[in-house]
Amino acid sequence: FNTAQFGQHILKNPLVAQGIVDKANLRASDVVLEVGPGTGNLTVRILEKCKSCTAVEMDPRMAAELTKRVQGKPEQRKLNILVGDFVKTDLPYFDVCISNTPYQISSPIVFKLLSQRPIFRVAILMFQREFAMRLVARPGDSLWNRLSVNVQLYAKVDHIMKVGRNNFRPPPQVESSVVRIVPLDPPPPVAFAEFDGLTRIAFSRKNKVIRANFGAKGVEQVLEANYKALCAQQEKMIPDDFDMSSLLEQVLQESGYADQRASKMDVDDFLKLLTVFHKHGLHFA
Ligand code: SAM
Repeated sequence: FNTAQFGQHILKNPLVAQGIVDKANLRASDVVLEVGPGTGNLTVRILEKCKSCTAVEMDPRMAAELTKRVQGKPEQRKLNILVGDFVKTDLPYFDVCISNTPYQISSPIVFKLLSQRPIFRVAILMFQREFAMRLVARPGDSLWNRLSVNVQLYAKVDHIMKVGRNNFRPPPQVESSVVRIVPLDPPPPVAFAEFDGLTRIAFSRKNKVIRANFGAKGVEQVLEANYKALCAQQEKMIPDDFDMSSLLEQVLQESGYADQRASKMDVDDFLKLLTVFHKHGLHFA
């Protein structure tokens, strides 16, 4: 284990640690999940305010240090430490997630949390500044990308705090920011693989028009393969005059998005575009 590989930048400023936990507005009944507790600077503050906390820590030495820190204290029985990789861990129920995240698994953390059921109430998470700014970007912003739209499909995200590198030991290369993620409840009734498949194509060159991105090499072939697989599965005949190019052009025309650019489209635009594809039996996954 080493600092760089596991992103072990310990939050040394107690005001920032308290600020992060305060932003979660914990209730005495809350079950909390923490990713990467490290030596427990956030954990001890979380334990003061919650019913129980599960902390997933990959580095056994850190887990041992945290165990020692709460040993013999009343908080000890509220804390459950799971030693392992967060990405591969089956998560227990939680109401709130709080984490100074290991930055190398930022995206997997966000999508794992958002796919969890039942839906949590709020997550307060520290990320590298640029990643945080992508999470909160809006259509037309230079940072608006596939991550922005895929996350905002499922959640409202706000930037709540900037944290400079000197608040950590050792200081990371990059500046950090804390965001609040509130999942939409109920979630939109769309399969993530479908939405993600569409945004992957639409953002392949985000300043090109949608029609141009769908004209890229391989896209038509994938849609056609998916179409034929679905027909076979539903025991539907493929029409003799079936022509993927003209169907694709028809769908794009009908949607009204053929000449728009992903860089300017919001979540609703992508949902509407996806609906037209589905109406014509075209799927992305
Ligand atoms: N929460 C502590 C704090 O704020 O002082 C430490 C934060 S440090 C940025 C990230 C922590 O996540 C480290 O303790 C590291 O060992 C742990 N970690 C790294 N990769 C992990 C993974 N895949 N699963 C669980 N924990 C991980």
